[in-house]
Amino acid sequence: MPPMTVQDGTDHETVITTKDADSGLTAIIAIHNTQLGPAVGGCRMFPYVQEAHALRDALRLSQGMTYKSALAGLPFGGGKSVILGDPRREKTPALLRAMGAFVDMLAGRYIIAEDSGTSPDDMQVIAEATRHVTGSNALRREDPSPATARGVFMGIRAGISQVFGTECLVGRSVAIQGLGHVGYHLAKYLTNAGAQVYGSDINVENLARAVNEVGITAVSPQEILFQPCDVLAPCAMGAVLNESNIAKLQTRVIAGAANNQLATDEDDARLRARNIVYCPDFAINAGGIVDIHHQNNNSCSDTRAAAIEQIGHSVASILERAQSQAVGTQQIAVAMAEEQLNACSQNAKSLQRAAFA
Ligand code: NAD
Repeated sequence: MPPMTVQDGTDHETVITTKDADSGLTAIIAIHNTQLGPAVGGCRMFPYVQEAHALRDALRLSQGMTYKSALAGLPFGGGKSVILGDPRREKTPALLRAMGAFVDMLAGRYIIAEDSGTSPDDMQVIAEATRHVTGSNALRREDPSPATARGVFMGIRAGISQVFGTECLVGRSVAIQGLGHVGYHLAKYLTNAGAQVYGSDINVENLARAVNEVGITAVSPQEILFQPCDVLAPCAMGAVLNESNIAKLQTRVIAGAANNQLATDEDDARLRARNIVYCPDFAINAGGIVDIHHQNNNSCSDTRAAAIEQIGHSVASILERAQSQAVGTQQIAVAMAEEQLNACSQNAKSLQRAAFA
C-alpha cells in the first residue's frame, strides 16, 4: 500500500503511514515542526496493540523532539517514527530497508535515529536505503546513551539543589526505573557521586549487570515507583506517571530519561500540588541529541562535555521560573521552548523583510 497522509487534527506538519506487504513493515512517521531545521528523532519499534496507540506515540514523541531541540538551542526540528511490531521477532533486514525507503521519501525533512526497539546496527541497515540517518558512519559514530545519562545526571543535580539547597549527591537516594542503555550509565554516574542507588528492570540480565557491576540495590518493578527516595528517575517507557500513582509517590524530585513521562498534562499540576519537583523530560534527556550535533560539527571533547553540562543550567532555569510563577515545571518548559520557536520565526521574517527591502 502506498504511504498515506494522516489527517490527525494536530498541529503537526506531516504525518504519514505505510504498510509494505513484502517486508511486513507497518510504520508511521510524524514530523511536528521543521522551523529550526530538519526533524530529527528516533525510530521506536514496539508491539502496539492498536494502530491508534502507535499514532499517539508518534505524535507526542515528535512534539517532544521539537521542544527538546528548541530548548537545547539545536538547529533541528521535531520528528519521530514508529514501527508496529515486536523487535525481537519481527525485525528483519528487509523490514529495516523498507523503513529506510519510507524515510527517503521525505527527502531529508525527517532524519531517523535509533530508539527503543532499534539499535545503531539497525540504522546501518536502514542507511542502505536512505542517507537521512543519524546513526550512519557518515553522521555519527557513538551510542548517545552515555551522553543522555550525563545530561540526566546534571539535571538531577539541579533538581536536588532546588529542594535541598545543594547539588551534592553524597548520601542522597535515587530510584531508577529501567537499567537499559541510559539507566545503566546513570547508575554509574550516581554511585560515583556518592548516591545510594536503587534500581529495577523487567529484563533480568540488565538488572543483574547493574547490581553486579555498579552495586545498585535491586527493587521489584512493582515497587520501584513507590520506593522512598530523594529522586525518582524514570528511564524505561513513557506515561509512567498518572493520577493514581502520583498520589503514592515517596520522592522529592522526578528526573529521568524516559520521554513523555506524564500520562496527561494535568499530571504536571498534580506533581506540583504534592510538592514534588518534576524536571521536564524533554529538557533533561537532551544529552544524546546535543552530543550528536557536536559530533556532526567535529567539536572537541571539551566543547561536547560543556554542552551536556549546560543541560543542568537549562533545567535549573525552568525550575526557578516555575517556582517564581507558581506553576508546573512542564508548563514552563513548553512555554520556554515555544519562545525559542517564536524568536526563530521572528528572525526569519526580519531576514525576509531585509532581503526584499
Ligand atoms: P533501553 O530499551 O535500553 O532501556 C529501557 C529499560 O527499561 C530496558 O532494560 C527495559 O527492560 C526496562 N523496562 C521496561 N519496562 C520496565 C518496567 N516496567 N520496569 C522496569 N524496567 C522496565 O532504552 P534506553 O535507551 O535506556 O532509553 C530509556 C528511555 O529514555 C526510553 O524511554 C527512551 O525513549 C528515552 N531516551 C533515551 C535516549 C538515549 O540516548 N538512549 C535519549 C532520550 C530519551
